[in-house]
Formats: sequence, structure tokens, C-alpha cells
Amino acid sequence: MRRKTRQIHVGNLAIGGDAPIAVQSMTTTYTRDVASTVSQIHRLEEVGCEIVRVAVPEEEDAQAIGEIKRQIHIPLVADIHYKHSLALESIRQGIDCVRINPGNLINGRQSLDEIVRACKERGVAMRIGVNSGSIDALDQRGQMERVQVRLREDGTLERSDPLEARRREREHLAERMVTKALEYISWCEELDYHEIKVSLKSSNPLTAVEAYTRFSARSDYPLHLGITEAGTIVTGAVKSAVGMSLLLSQGIGDTIRVSLSAEPEEEIPVAYEILRSLELRNRGVTFVSCPSCGRVEIDVVSVANEVEKRLSKVQTPIQVAVMGCVVNGPGESRDADVGLAGGKGRGVIFRKGKAVRTVPEDQFLDAVLKEVASLLPPNEARLVYPEGGIHESAGVHRTREEGIGHRVLTVKQ
Ligand code: SF4
Repeated sequence: MRRKTRQIHVGNLAIGGDAPIAVQSMTTTYTRDVASTVSQIHRLEEVGCEIVRVAVPEEEDAQAIGEIKRQIHIPLVADIHYKHSLALESIRQGIDCVRINPGNLINGRQSLDEIVRACKERGVAMRIGVNSGSIDALDQRGQMERVQVRLREDGTLERSDPLEARRREREHLAERMVTKALEYISWCEELDYHEIKVSLKSSNPLTAVEAYTRFSARSDYPLHLGITEAGTIVTGAVKSAVGMSLLLSQGIGDTIRVSLSAEPEEEIPVAYEILRSLELRNRGVTFVSCPSCGRVEIDVVSVANEVEKRLSKVQTPIQVAVMGCVVNGPGESRDADVGLAGGKGRGVIFRKGKAVRTVPEDQFLDAVLKEVASLLPPNEARLVYPEGGIHESAGVHRTREEGIGHRVLTVKQ
């Protein structure tokens, strides 16, 4: 059951309340380089990004916001640190939301008050972002000093931070983050400003979960979920999925960002996969494929990866299965909108639960994508199955008699 939060608007997008959980990302370009920034945002839009944040470290970056806004279609958030003048210029340029950590603004509350007044005047939303790393150093030093190491008689080391002590430290840090966020919110409320969403990020998923859970018990402002500095594609995707799922499954979270050390476009499919797996969003392809095993006599891995890649821009909800053999293939394929169940160098194509034809291995890709395209609206079908069909299918030939490893590359008429 989704936790009921108050609803705010970032541009024309509703956040919180009963609005769908929105998927966000952040550009990696220099914001002042309008052409590169807009081009990256367009790539993000194509794969389903719904809100995008840009870094605004200097005046030139803030001044570029108006032009960027004119060329994109999704709400834009300015990421501001230290200088409130950057927030004010971003607001003048027509930004939809400013992301602020009031704790690192020069002149603290006085600066925040000026930003809040400007936001109110222009109907701009604010994300109050408190990161575990920004909680004051003194507080963290206090934690570290409690960790001691003792030499036992047998020469091994005994640390004074077993799991329980680490849990207490996490709780203490999370509480500090929540207290800070609530204090900043109270400053905004004193100016009768409520268009606020809150993030309480940490690179440790358990700290983030603790902070978000505590906050949601005490406030109904919408929450932006994120595990910050989560890591590279595999590390970051796993950490984000673990942390966010613990929260989302309790109904906590109104917008999410998966942070990866990768191109920002890589973040979006991970975010949607998390939401789809929890049945919180039904957008794009639900993909089912088997890992293959010693029974398989087709190249499942190449076909599955290629099909998934070619369907990455599909927004229509559709389930596609690529399965290696008769053990689970026909069952999964029948349940999908389009399925492939492999056999010996051949495969059966299923459409809406019915076997429609059998094709040789070099036509798998063409056959699956053609069926998927036939179920999509024309604009998406064109992306999946361009006029003239799919012309290449690369993979590994494998049969139990001949073994694995003959590379086949087929060009279809
Ligand atoms: Fe192996 Fe067949 Fe299961 Fe795929 S569907 S993992 S090939 S048994």
C-alpha cells in the first residue's frame, strides 16, 4: 500500500499523492554547453526519463537554463550548492525545481529564505536534499571514535563495532539527517511554502532506508529516493534495487533516481525494472529470459541480449520471453505477449499464448521483433522493426553433438 503523501508539482508533473512514481536522472555534461546538455536530455527522454537534473556550479550554467528549457520536454531541476545566487538565476531562467541542501548554503537560513521567496513567486518546487556525507564532520568523528580495536591473547584483533554497534551508528546518523530535513522544512513553512520534496541519500543502503523510514513516519512531504554514489552498473544497480525495494515495498517513495557511474541513459532501465518488479509501474517491456544451461541447443544469451537492447525504447507495456528449450520455454512463452521457445537449431514463436510458427535460428531476432512490432503503436513499431526488417543476427552456434563456439553471422536478404 502506497504511503499517502501530499502532492506537489515539478513543472507539469505531479509528484506524490496518487501520482505514478516518477523516474529521474541527472546529466553529466557541462550545463553551459547547451547543445551537449540538450542532446543528452533528449536521449534520456527517449528511454523514459521523466525529470532531469543539471548541475549548476557557476553563473554561466544558471544562465543556460532558459535555452535548455526551450529545447526539452521534461521538467528540469537545478542542482545548487553554496551560492544562493545560482538558485535565484536558475529560477529567473524558468527552472521547474531547485535542489538545495540548506546546510551548505553560504549564509544558511538567510539564503534559503531568499530562494523560498523566489520559488513561491514563480511557482517553483524545491527538493531539500540531506546526504549522510553532509551531516557535520564533528558528529561523524564522534561515531568513529567509538570504534576501538583490541589485541586478544591469541594475537587476533577484536573490534568494538560488531553489527549491533553499526546498527546504532546508522540509526544515529539517520536520525540526524531526518532532524535536519525537518528543521529545513520548518523554515520553509514559516514562509508558507510547501512545494517541497525531500531526499535523504546515503551511499550505504541501510542508512538511507533507516532515514527515509524515520522521515516518512513523521512527515507527509513526498520523498525522492536514491542511494547516492552507488557505484558502477552492477554494484549501483544492486545497491539501488536493495535499498529502494525495502522502501518502495513499504509504500515509501514518490520519485526515484538510480545513480550509476555510467552514461545517465543506463540509469533509466534499472529504475523501471525496479518499479516493474514491484508492480508499481507498468511501462515498457517486461522481459523474461532463461540463463540457458547444458540442455540448450540455441544461443539464448545473444538472442536475449539483442532483443532486450532493441526494445529499450518501447514504452507500451508488453511481456516478451526468450527461452532456451522445452523444459520451461513453452510455458513462459505462452504467458508472454510474444515468446520464443528454442529447440534444436529452431524455435517456436508464440503470440498471445498461441504457437504461430517455427523458425530457424538465424531468423529468431527477425521473427521475435516482427511479432513485438505488430503489437505496438506505429511510432514504437518503427523503432523496433524498421522498414525492410532486421538484417543481421549474430550469435554462437551450439549443438550437443558439435559443441559450442562456431560463430554465425547471418544477413537476411
Ligand atoms: Fe535450460 Fe531449458 Fe531452463 Fe533454459 S529453459 S535454463 S535451456 S532447462
